[in-house]
Amino acid sequence: MTSTLSFDIVVIGSGPGGYVAAIRAAQLGFKTACIEKEPTLGGTCLNVGCIPSKALLYSSEMYHFLQKDAKTHGIEVSNLHVEFPQMMKRKQEVVSGFVQGVAGLFKKNKVERIAGTARLLSPHAIEVKKDGHVQKIQAKYIVLATGSEPIALPFLPFDEKIVLSSTGALSLPKIPKKLVVVGAGVIGVELASVYARLGSQVKVVERLDHICPMMDQAIRKALWQTLKKQGLEFYLSANVTGAEIGKEQVRVQVEQEGKNLTFEAEHVLVAVGRRPYSKGLGLQEVGIQVSPRGFVEVNQDLQTHCASVYAIGDLVEGAMLAHRASEEGIAVVEKLAGLHPQVNYMAIPNVIYTHPEVASVGLTEQEAKDAQLKVQIGSCLFKANSRARSIGDTDGMVKIIGEAKTGRLIGLHIIGPNASEMIGEGVIALEKKATLSDMAYASHPHPTLSEAIKEAALNALGHAIHF
Ligand SMILES: Cc1cc2nc3c(=O)[nH]c(=O)nc-3n(C[C@H](O)[C@H](O)[C@H](O)COP(=O)(O)OP(=O)(O)OC[C@H]3O[C@@H](n4cnc5c(N)ncnc54)[C@H](O)[C@@H]3O)c2cc1C
Repeated sequence: MTSTLSFDIVVIGSGPGGYVAAIRAAQLGFKTACIEKEPTLGGTCLNVGCIPSKALLYSSEMYHFLQKDAKTHGIEVSNLHVEFPQMMKRKQEVVSGFVQGVAGLFKKNKVERIAGTARLLSPHAIEVKKDGHVQKIQAKYIVLATGSEPIALPFLPFDEKIVLSSTGALSLPKIPKKLVVVGAGVIGVELASVYARLGSQVKVVERLDHICPMMDQAIRKALWQTLKKQGLEFYLSANVTGAEIGKEQVRVQVEQEGKNLTFEAEHVLVAVGRRPYSKGLGLQEVGIQVSPRGFVEVNQDLQTHCASVYAIGDLVEGAMLAHRASEEGIAVVEKLAGLHPQVNYMAIPNVIYTHPEVASVGLTEQEAKDAQLKVQIGSCLFKANSRARSIGDTDGMVKIIGEAKTGRLIGLHIIGPNASEMIGEGVIALEKKATLSDMAYASHPHPTLSEAIKEAALNALGHAIHF
């Protein structure tokens, strides 16, 4: 050991859980450090997750629009083609800007950045290793925010050349002619969309008989139909049973309802989920318990079995979402400062950034049924919305679910243009326990896509105006 530093709060991991927790802790007056093993701050989200995927989704969506829809707007484009290296360069510039921004925020807020891999030595001591150098850190409180990693299939180990995780798929050197995607969850359909729009022939293999299982049934069915129209080939109720991995391509064996299929492609993207990452963290040494699936066990205050150690984000069971990780990071340090924060898990939105986008918050119709709630349901197709028609983007709908007894909103589900931006209305409405009537009678600007939410609420009350 060469030196010992001492802090009030040490956060391990600088993803959206860790860096947000560290900044808020410093704002609250705690002497704070954040340890990160990778060369850049920002974790999965900023480096190899939310941000690069959204950059590529946007670029590919622009290309797709110019190729397929621009003509109907009277826009003629000649020599339209993709400069893929430039698309990737731009994506990387966006990422770099963000990760440098986090470093700047650390400086501004006086969060000490410590580079290296952390391991717990005791409830108040951490060892940090970097390039053979070992440092010991003391902390009154420790926040674990080490995130998650992609799950591999036994016969498809990641090499990030032929067999890709999302990380490899976000950094391909060229657009593949053929791509197989295993798993039709959020990451699978988003990255499948990117490459399908850029011209790859994309086959998506999914074990379940439907895509995106966390979404409301009507919405995910609409998404499936739209993505099929865009050229994605789905193989549902299908299992990958084996693979031959060559130097330049892969042959993926699939079994679907008794039939054996073989798909050849330059790459296979395995997007079957992520698991919590706590390798080498020394959890057992300090008595922190993990679930059989590897999630760190915490109480309602996100405190582990070791009283001075807290855990947040993907490391803890729940929706693996950047904004959930950040909310939890803020809640932990505010609680330590004597405040009374609360994470309202009911009001954490989910988004799929395909085109159309899908966004939801609260209960699905099925979840409401399972909870034996009597519901009022309303919907509005974007075909009946003036803004959607003006911009020529009418695929999709809003579905709103209220509890019949109280009239309160319990779920909002949107598939359509800008759904990700519109879902905020549902989040606030849920947080503030608004009723469908509140939403139906609140003035929405005209003409906007958000009027479809108002109209769906009116429909649930039995008096829609525009259809
Ligand atoms: C392709 C993709 C797209 C995504 N898109 C979205 C999206 O659009 N919206 C959304 O909400 N979520 C999205 N996610 C999920 C989101 O990225 C995660 O939920 C989020 O990053 C979790 O944050 P976290 O802080 O818990 O962990 P992470 O972001 O995973 O950060 C953990 C950090 O801890 C560091 N670390 C681990 N162990 C140690 C150690 N021992 N010592 C020091 N450092 C350590 C890691 O290097 C990492 O930087 C996406 C994920 C992927 C893969």
